[in-house]
Amino acid sequence: MTPATPIRSIAPDDPDAPALIEAAAMLRAGGLVAFPTETVYGLGADATNPEAVARIFLAKGRPSTNPLIVHADGPDLARRCVSVWPEAAETLARHFWPGPLTLVLPRSPLIPDIVTGGRDTVGVRVPDVGVARALIERVGRPLAAPSANRSNRISPTRAEHVSRDLDGRIDLILDAGPTAVGLESTVLDLTSKPPRILRPGPIDADQLAAVLGVPVLSSVSSESLPLADRAAASPGLMAIHYAPRTPAIRLEPGSPPPAIPAETSVALIVFGPLAPELGSLRPSLRIDLPDPARASRTLYDSLHCCDASGASLIIVRMPPDHPSWAAVRDRLQRATTVPEPPLPARPLT
Ligand code: AMP
Ligand code: MG
Repeated sequence: MTPATPIRSIAPDDPDAPALIEAAAMLRAGGLVAFPTETVYGLGADATNPEAVARIFLAKGRPSTNPLIVHADGPDLARRCVSVWPEAAETLARHFWPGPLTLVLPRSPLIPDIVTGGRDTVGVRVPDVGVARALIERVGRPLAAPSANRSNRISPTRAEHVSRDLDGRIDLILDAGPTAVGLESTVLDLTSKPPRILRPGPIDADQLAAVLGVPVLSSVSSESLPLADRAAASPGLMAIHYAPRTPAIRLEPGSPPPAIPAETSVALIVFGPLAPELGSLRPSLRIDLPDPARASRTLYDSLHCCDASGASLIIVRMPPDHPSWAAVRDRLQRATTVPEPPLPARPLT
């Protein structure tokens, strides 16, 4: 079957590609275009056009309270989206932009309510892919762009992933191959003192603190806050997010696998050598992501592969609880559940 949404191949650094000109015209007319960034593929709409932004929420099935990140082609346009530009924003923008860092700041009148879910703050960033910036420049307006997947599904790191989830629901997909970073941006709230990470990502608290010269609070652990507080602070902290279609459970290092019926076909994801306690598993697919950079780049692709493999259960053996694995662990905590504990033995009567 031919896809209903056209997919156009494009070189990541070609600002004059015909597909880019077509995409910019669609966006200016209020359309939806999926485009590559260094983190994941984004689903872009003109951030200054409330009707266009409403189509993002519809296409994704995203709750209207979940704010969208606004993408700019450089710091000048980013500054027009916010009403305050503190010294810290200038320092971080100089150091990390273009790159996977979203800054949350008070919003300017350029950004309509629908983008921020009614909040008086907006998240802005400058993506580190030439065609993404060239696209924004051609449109001449900031682009609201969440990940180009159905709400609560795994984020797309390839154009095929976008097509699988959103074919027929959006106007165009620009395909520049797999994304280089592979996990969503770090979201940093600069309206709180000290600055606070709302969503862990490729740039960690230590890197931010080193550049700012002040401490930065790490993200509140997704499991340490009541659900309502989590959603209010930053919907990206919701416990269930980024989930594969196949049931997926996680095992912390040292935990034995639960009893699994013989007919269950298991896809296993490990982060380093196979732990002895997992030796009894006979997975139909095994994926090893040995270091944080590789894991970040290919985690979502791996989950997509597990879904496509026909396995009936995904078992993820978690990487160690170490800062270098924080963003990967964070996404895995939302993509998987903890196995049910075995029933306690009945006391003899
Ligand atoms: P996504 O667009 O799917 O990558 O998710 C964007 C995430 O960024 C949201 O779910 C929030 O966690 C966070 N975010 C964006 N804008 C704001 C904001 N104004 N305030 C707090 N968090 C935000
Ligand atoms: Mg998303």
